[in-house]
Amino acid sequence: MGVIFRCKGQVTVIVSDRSFANGQVAQSVEQGIENPRVGGSIPSLATTFQESAKQMKDTSSQTDSLDAAFWQPRTCMRAPISEIFHAAHLLDRATSAHLSGHHQIAEQLIHDANIPTIRNWTESLWGSLEENPEQPKFRRFREVPDSPPYLKKSERAQERMPSDTRKEDITQVYGRHCLFCGIPLIHENVRKAMHSAYPIAACWGSSNQTQHAALQCMWLQFDHILPHSRGGDNSIENVVVTCAPCNYGRKEYTLDEVGLIDPRTRPILRTSWDGLERFLQPGISQSR
Ligand SMILES: [Zn+2]
Repeated sequence: MGVIFRCKGQVTVIVSDRSFANGQVAQSVEQGIENPRVGGSIPSLATTFQESAKQMKDTSSQTDSLDAAFWQPRTCMRAPISEIFHAAHLLDRATSAHLSGHHQIAEQLIHDANIPTIRNWTESLWGSLEENPEQPKFRRFREVPDSPPYLKKSERAQERMPSDTRKEDITQVYGRHCLFCGIPLIHENVRKAMHSAYPIAACWGSSNQTQHAALQCMWLQFDHILPHSRGGDNSIENVVVTCAPCNYGRKEYTLDEVGLIDPRTRPILRTSWDGLERFLQPGISQSR
Protein backbone atom coordinates (compact mmCIF):
# COMPACT_ATOMS: atom_id res chain seq x y z
CA MET A 1 0.00 0.00 0.00
CA GLY A 2 1.25 3.46 -0.77
CA VAL A 3 1.67 6.07 1.94
CA ILE A 4 0.18 9.41 0.92
CA PHE A 5 0.99 12.75 2.49
CA ARG A 6 -0.97 15.91 1.78
CA CYS A 7 1.43 18.80 1.90
CA LYS A 8 0.87 22.53 1.98
CA GLY A 9 -0.48 23.79 -1.33
CA GLN A 10 -2.58 20.62 -1.67
CA VAL A 11 0.20 18.71 -3.40
CA THR A 12 -0.12 14.99 -3.04
CA VAL A 13 3.12 13.09 -2.64
CA ILE A 14 3.37 9.34 -2.76
CA VAL A 15 6.16 8.57 -0.37
CA SER A 16 6.12 4.84 -0.76
CA ASP A 17 4.33 2.46 -3.01
CA ARG A 18 5.81 -0.73 -1.64
CA SER A 19 3.74 -3.47 -0.14
CA PHE A 20 5.12 -5.50 2.73
CA ALA A 21 4.87 -9.21 2.97
CA ASN A 22 3.61 -10.79 6.15
CA GLY A 23 6.03 -12.77 8.23
CA GLN A 24 9.69 -12.62 8.80
CA VAL A 25 12.74 -13.79 7.02
CA ALA A 26 13.27 -17.46 7.68
CA GLN A 27 14.68 -17.75 11.15
CA SER A 28 16.85 -20.76 10.87
CA VAL A 29 18.57 -22.90 8.35
CA GLU A 30 18.29 -26.47 9.36
CA GLN A 31 20.82 -29.10 8.48
CA GLY A 32 23.05 -31.82 9.89
CA ILE A 33 24.79 -35.11 9.40
CA GLU A 34 24.33 -38.55 10.73
CA ASN A 35 24.73 -39.25 14.38
CA PRO A 36 24.56 -42.68 15.97
CA ARG A 37 21.25 -43.59 17.46
CA VAL A 38 21.17 -43.56 21.20
CA GLY A 39 19.64 -46.31 23.25
CA GLY A 40 18.17 -46.77 26.68
CA SER A 41 16.17 -44.35 28.70
CA ILE A 42 18.98 -41.83 28.78
CA PRO A 43 20.65 -41.15 25.43
CA SER A 44 24.34 -41.85 25.58
CA LEU A 45 27.00 -39.23 24.96
CA ALA A 46 29.62 -41.91 24.54
CA THR A 47 30.34 -41.49 20.86
CA THR A 48 33.76 -39.99 20.56
CA PHE A 49 34.74 -36.91 18.65
CA GLN A 50 36.93 -39.02 16.42
CA GLU A 51 34.07 -41.33 15.49
CA SER A 52 31.80 -38.44 14.67
CA ALA A 53 34.53 -36.68 12.72
CA LYS A 54 34.85 -39.81 10.61
CA GLN A 55 31.10 -39.81 10.03
CA MET A 56 31.29 -36.17 9.05
CA LYS A 57 33.97 -36.99 6.50
CA ASP A 58 32.06 -39.99 5.18
CA THR A 59 28.88 -38.03 4.64
CA SER A 60 30.37 -34.75 3.54
CA SER A 61 29.68 -35.37 -0.12
CA GLN A 62 25.99 -35.69 0.64
CA THR A 63 25.79 -32.36 2.34
CA ASP A 64 28.12 -30.14 0.33
CA SER A 65 25.22 -28.40 -1.34
CA LEU A 66 23.89 -27.38 2.05
CA ASP A 67 27.14 -25.92 3.31
CA ALA A 68 26.65 -22.28 2.50
CA ALA A 69 23.21 -22.05 4.03
CA PHE A 70 23.89 -24.42 6.89
CA TRP A 71 26.67 -22.50 8.54
CA GLN A 72 24.81 -19.25 8.83
CA PRO A 73 24.62 -18.57 12.60
CA ARG A 74 21.41 -19.92 14.08
CA THR A 75 19.78 -20.14 17.46
CA CYS A 76 18.95 -23.85 17.45
CA MET A 77 19.50 -26.95 15.38
CA ARG A 78 15.85 -27.25 14.45
CA ALA A 79 12.99 -24.85 15.05
CA PRO A 80 10.35 -26.35 17.38
CA ILE A 81 7.05 -27.53 15.96
CA SER A 82 3.68 -26.25 17.19
CA GLU A 83 2.69 -29.67 18.54
CA ILE A 84 5.23 -29.28 21.36
CA PHE A 85 3.54 -26.13 22.63
CA HIS A 86 0.13 -27.76 22.25
CA ALA A 87 1.32 -30.71 24.33
CA ALA A 88 2.63 -28.32 26.99
CA HIS A 89 -0.82 -26.74 27.15
CA LEU A 90 -2.47 -30.16 27.53
CA LEU A 91 -0.05 -31.17 30.28
CA ASP A 92 -0.66 -27.88 32.06
CA ARG A 93 -4.41 -28.56 31.98
CA ALA A 94 -3.77 -32.12 33.11
CA THR A 95 -1.85 -30.85 36.12
CA SER A 96 -4.69 -28.54 37.08
CA ALA A 97 -7.20 -31.37 36.67
CA HIS A 98 -5.03 -33.66 38.81
CA LEU A 99 -4.73 -31.12 41.59
CA SER A 100 -8.48 -30.62 41.64
CA GLY A 101 -9.11 -34.37 41.84
CA HIS A 102 -10.34 -34.87 38.26
CA HIS A 103 -8.08 -37.81 37.60
CA GLN A 104 -9.85 -39.26 34.58
CA ILE A 105 -9.64 -35.91 32.82
CA ALA A 106 -5.99 -35.57 33.80
CA GLU A 107 -5.20 -39.02 32.46
CA GLN A 108 -6.92 -38.30 29.15
CA LEU A 109 -5.07 -35.00 28.73
CA ILE A 110 -1.71 -36.63 29.45
CA HIS A 111 -2.57 -39.34 26.95
CA ASP A 112 -3.52 -36.73 24.34
CA ALA A 113 -0.18 -34.95 24.84
CA ASN A 114 1.72 -38.04 23.73
CA ILE A 115 1.87 -36.84 20.12
CA PRO A 116 3.81 -38.92 17.56
CA THR A 117 5.04 -35.93 15.55
CA ILE A 118 6.84 -34.69 18.66
CA ARG A 119 8.77 -37.94 18.81
CA ASN A 120 9.65 -37.50 15.14
CA TRP A 121 11.02 -34.03 15.93
CA THR A 122 13.10 -35.39 18.78
CA GLU A 123 14.38 -38.32 16.76
CA SER A 124 15.39 -36.00 13.94
CA LEU A 125 17.88 -34.43 16.36
CA TRP A 126 19.21 -37.36 18.35
CA GLY A 127 18.24 -40.39 16.27
CA SER A 128 20.15 -42.24 13.57
CA LEU A 129 20.56 -41.01 10.01
CA GLU A 130 19.31 -44.37 8.81
CA GLU A 131 15.97 -43.86 10.52
CA ASN A 132 15.93 -40.08 10.05
CA PRO A 133 17.02 -39.40 6.47
CA GLU A 134 16.07 -35.73 6.77
CA GLN A 135 18.54 -35.21 9.62
CA PRO A 136 21.21 -33.52 7.44
CA LYS A 137 18.86 -30.57 7.16
CA PHE A 138 18.96 -30.04 10.90
CA ARG A 139 22.26 -31.10 12.35
CA ARG A 140 25.85 -31.54 11.33
CA PHE A 141 29.25 -30.94 12.82
CA ARG A 142 32.38 -29.23 11.54
CA GLU A 143 35.99 -29.03 12.55
CA VAL A 144 36.91 -25.59 13.89
CA PRO A 145 40.57 -24.55 14.15
CA ASP A 146 41.84 -24.11 17.70
CA SER A 147 38.76 -25.69 19.25
CA PRO A 148 39.26 -26.90 22.82
CA PRO A 149 40.63 -30.46 22.61
CA TYR A 150 39.02 -33.49 24.18
CA LEU A 151 40.50 -34.02 27.60
CA LYS A 152 41.37 -37.20 29.37
CA LYS A 153 38.95 -37.97 32.17
CA SER A 154 41.63 -37.17 34.70
CA GLU A 155 41.95 -33.68 33.22
CA ARG A 156 38.25 -32.83 33.31
CA ALA A 157 36.30 -31.12 36.07
CA GLN A 158 36.06 -33.62 38.88
CA GLU A 159 32.28 -33.46 39.17
CA ARG A 160 30.45 -34.45 35.99
CA MET A 161 27.35 -32.42 36.82
CA PRO A 162 26.45 -29.51 39.12
CA SER A 163 25.16 -30.26 42.62
CA ASP A 164 21.41 -30.21 43.25
CA THR A 165 21.76 -26.83 44.92
CA ARG A 166 23.68 -25.45 41.95
CA LYS A 167 21.03 -26.88 39.61
CA GLU A 168 18.36 -24.96 41.49
CA ASP A 169 20.41 -21.81 41.13
CA ILE A 170 20.85 -22.45 37.41
CA THR A 171 17.10 -22.89 36.99
CA GLN A 172 16.50 -19.66 38.88
CA VAL A 173 18.85 -17.82 36.53
CA TYR A 174 17.77 -19.32 33.22
CA GLY A 175 14.12 -20.22 33.82
CA ARG A 176 12.21 -23.15 32.36
CA HIS A 177 12.52 -22.76 28.62
CA CYS A 178 15.21 -24.29 26.45
CA LEU A 179 17.88 -21.66 25.92
CA PHE A 180 18.35 -22.84 22.36
CA CYS A 181 14.93 -23.64 20.87
CA GLY A 182 12.70 -22.01 23.50
CA ILE A 183 10.31 -24.88 24.24
CA PRO A 184 8.84 -25.25 27.76
CA LEU A 185 10.74 -27.62 30.05
CA ILE A 186 9.70 -30.14 32.71
CA HIS A 187 12.05 -31.29 35.49
CA GLU A 188 12.46 -35.05 35.77
CA ASN A 189 11.04 -34.98 39.31
CA VAL A 190 7.74 -33.73 37.90
CA ARG A 191 7.78 -36.34 35.17
CA LYS A 192 8.50 -39.09 37.69
CA ALA A 193 5.59 -37.96 39.88
CA MET A 194 3.30 -37.82 36.85
CA HIS A 195 4.42 -41.29 35.79
CA SER A 196 3.81 -42.58 39.31
CA ALA A 197 0.26 -41.23 39.33
CA TYR A 198 -0.52 -42.14 35.70
CA PRO A 199 1.86 -44.97 34.72
CA ILE A 200 0.09 -45.78 31.46
CA ALA A 201 -0.74 -42.30 30.17
CA ALA A 202 2.58 -40.81 31.34
CA CYS A 203 4.49 -43.84 30.11
CA TRP A 204 8.23 -44.00 30.64
CA GLY A 205 9.73 -47.22 29.36
CA SER A 206 13.34 -48.27 29.05
CA SER A 207 13.64 -47.35 25.37
CA ASN A 208 13.17 -44.04 23.61
CA GLN A 209 10.14 -45.33 21.74
CA THR A 210 8.27 -46.32 24.90
CA GLN A 211 8.60 -42.96 26.62
CA HIS A 212 5.92 -40.28 26.51
CA ALA A 213 6.90 -38.16 23.51
CA ALA A 214 6.21 -34.77 25.08
CA LEU A 215 7.66 -35.57 28.50
CA GLN A 216 10.76 -36.88 26.76
CA CYS A 217 11.13 -33.88 24.44
CA MET A 218 10.52 -31.33 27.21
CA TRP A 219 12.84 -33.05 29.71
CA LEU A 220 14.82 -30.28 31.42
CA GLN A 221 18.56 -30.71 31.00
CA PHE A 222 21.57 -29.03 32.55
CA ASP A 223 23.70 -28.49 29.48
CA HIS A 224 27.36 -27.45 29.52
CA ILE A 225 27.93 -24.70 26.95
CA LEU A 226 31.60 -25.69 26.84
CA PRO A 227 31.23 -29.45 27.12
CA HIS A 228 32.60 -31.15 30.21
CA SER A 229 34.85 -33.29 28.03
CA ARG A 230 36.34 -30.17 26.45
CA GLY A 231 37.18 -28.46 29.71
CA GLY A 232 33.82 -27.02 30.75
CA ASP A 233 33.06 -26.61 34.44
CA ASN A 234 29.81 -26.70 36.40
CA SER A 235 29.53 -22.99 37.02
CA ILE A 236 26.33 -21.04 36.44
CA GLU A 237 28.21 -19.23 33.69
CA ASN A 238 28.79 -22.49 31.80
CA VAL A 239 25.73 -24.63 32.55
CA VAL A 240 22.33 -23.62 31.19
CA VAL A 241 18.90 -25.25 30.90
CA THR A 242 17.94 -26.86 27.61
CA CYS A 243 15.57 -29.49 26.28
CA ALA A 244 16.76 -33.08 25.85
CA PRO A 245 16.92 -33.03 22.03
CA CYS A 246 19.03 -29.84 22.01
CA ASN A 247 21.34 -31.24 24.70
CA TYR A 248 21.83 -34.76 23.38
CA GLY A 249 21.65 -33.64 19.75
CA ARG A 250 24.68 -31.36 20.23
CA LYS A 251 26.54 -34.10 22.05
CA GLU A 252 30.07 -33.08 23.02
CA TYR A 253 30.58 -30.43 20.38
CA THR A 254 31.21 -26.75 20.95
CA LEU A 255 28.76 -24.13 19.75
CA ASP A 256 31.09 -23.25 16.87
CA GLU A 257 31.30 -26.87 15.80
CA VAL A 258 27.53 -27.04 15.35
CA GLY A 259 27.11 -23.46 14.15
CA LEU A 260 25.00 -22.19 17.02
CA ILE A 261 24.84 -18.68 18.46
CA ASP A 262 25.76 -18.52 22.15
CA PRO A 263 22.33 -18.53 23.85
CA ARG A 264 23.73 -16.58 26.79
CA THR A 265 23.96 -13.55 24.53
CA ARG A 266 20.17 -13.44 24.08
CA PRO A 267 17.49 -12.31 26.55
CA ILE A 268 16.19 -15.11 28.77
CA LEU A 269 12.64 -16.15 27.91
CA ARG A 270 10.30 -15.56 30.84
CA THR A 271 6.68 -16.73 30.67
CA SER A 272 3.98 -18.01 33.01
CA TRP A 273 5.15 -21.58 32.37
CA ASP A 274 5.94 -23.11 35.78
CA GLY A 275 7.39 -26.39 34.57
CA LEU A 276 4.32 -28.07 36.11
CA GLU A 277 6.15 -27.82 39.44
CA ARG A 278 2.80 -27.49 41.18
CA PHE A 279 2.28 -31.20 40.46
CA LEU A 280 4.70 -31.67 43.38
CA GLN A 281 2.69 -29.39 45.66
CA PRO A 282 2.96 -30.56 49.30
CA GLY A 283 -0.22 -32.01 50.70
CA ILE A 284 -1.49 -33.15 47.30
CA SER A 285 -1.56 -36.90 46.88
CA GLN A 286 0.55 -38.06 43.93
CA SER A 287 -1.52 -41.18 43.61
CA ARG A 288 -5.11 -41.62 42.63
ZN1 LIG B 1 15.72 -27.12 22.80
